[in-house]
Amino acid sequence: MRIYDDIQLDYQDVLLRPKRSTLASRSQVDIIREYNFKWASSAIKGTGIIAANMATTGTFEMAKALEKHNLFCALHKHYDAKELVVFLKENQKQFKNNDLIFISSGVGQNDYDKLADVMASKLVNNICIDVANGYSPYLIQYVQKVRKQFPKALIMAGNVVTGDMTEDLILNGVDIVKVGIGPGSVCTTRKLTGVGRPQFSTVIECADAAHGVGGMICADGGCTVPGDVCKSLCAGADFVMLGGMLAGHEESGGEISKKLYETNELAAKDNGEISRIVQEKLFKKFYGMSSDYAQEKFYGGMKNYRASEGKVVEIPFRGDIEHTILAILGGIRSAMTYIGAKRIKDMPKCATFYRVNRQLNNIFGAE
Ligand code: 5GP
Repeated sequence: MRIYDDIQLDYQDVLLRPKRSTLASRSQVDIIREYNFKWASSAIKGTGIIAANMATTGTFEMAKALEKHNLFCALHKHYDAKELVVFLKENQKQFKNNDLIFISSGVGQNDYDKLADVMASKLVNNICIDVANGYSPYLIQYVQKVRKQFPKALIMAGNVVTGDMTEDLILNGVDIVKVGIGPGSVCTTRKLTGVGRPQFSTVIECADAAHGVGGMICADGGCTVPGDVCKSLCAGADFVMLGGMLAGHEESGGEISKKLYETNELAAKDNGEISRIVQEKLFKKFYGMSSDYAQEKFYGGMKNYRASEGKVVEIPFRGDIEHTILAILGGIRSAMTYIGAKRIKDMPKCATFYRVNRQLNNIFGAE
């Protein structure tokens, strides 16, 4: 039995070391990066945050809100080809191009047919090929097929967690390898199967492997606060994909529910009767794409050879996405000033990490 003894780390196991820098303020840093890819023909400018292609976060509304800040969105795969094309046309009018939009695809024949339909519109060039287990032979075969058919497309594919498979995917036509198995906020893969790898170590190894062969990576899952996004970029991620951090907003998918809470405070009614104050709170549903709930909603039930690898949660409604976006971008700018990175691309070479036992002081709650 072989056991890897190297310590495997998550974002919460490290902190960035501040450094002397010549940058006097956050306004001196540049968070827009020009991406030039191994296979895709055209360069793209943006900040490498991507909304996850989950039904709750990869929505049209989310895409528009993110695009205003030059951030990316991987649209979920439950929109049909017609809906996608209508959106892409309209979006192109508003934003001049669809450079920041990814169309998602599984690896089945239906997925391919739909992808081909949407690509035929010539309105979009970015494809996100997504399977839970990127080690399956179907992924590489599908990547080869898509690359052959769309030689100039930007292809992101995954998910894997090791350098060897990252290189394999890139050499077979992928521009951006999506990395992460099990770190997601509504993922239960690790619990159910025991498979996975701590995300910070995954990012370091896969970024090194990808960059060695001219490719890039997208760190997918496990970010809980803006600081995790900063750590991910510093560890070498070219893109960071977010689900949970973008969920529960106006622009997110998922049903809204209202709950009533009796507080400990008392109030007098007009008739003098004293009763506890009742507060109303709104919640929005957020669910894993392989949860029972999603399988039921999109496929009319779970196939009996599959098990749910995702959970369903109700999170307090967080309003407009704008304030969350600004917090993330503010965090990145500030981290860059702390470590002396003028450009987002320079973050890994400016970063040094401390391994820590405890990163946050939660005496007044986890917020
Ligand atoms: P988060 O940012 O919420 O931590 O992670 C988002 C990522 O979780 C997604 O991009 C996707 O890779 C992963 N994910 C989404 N739904 C599921 C699911 O049902 N099961 C598993 N294993 N992973 C999921």
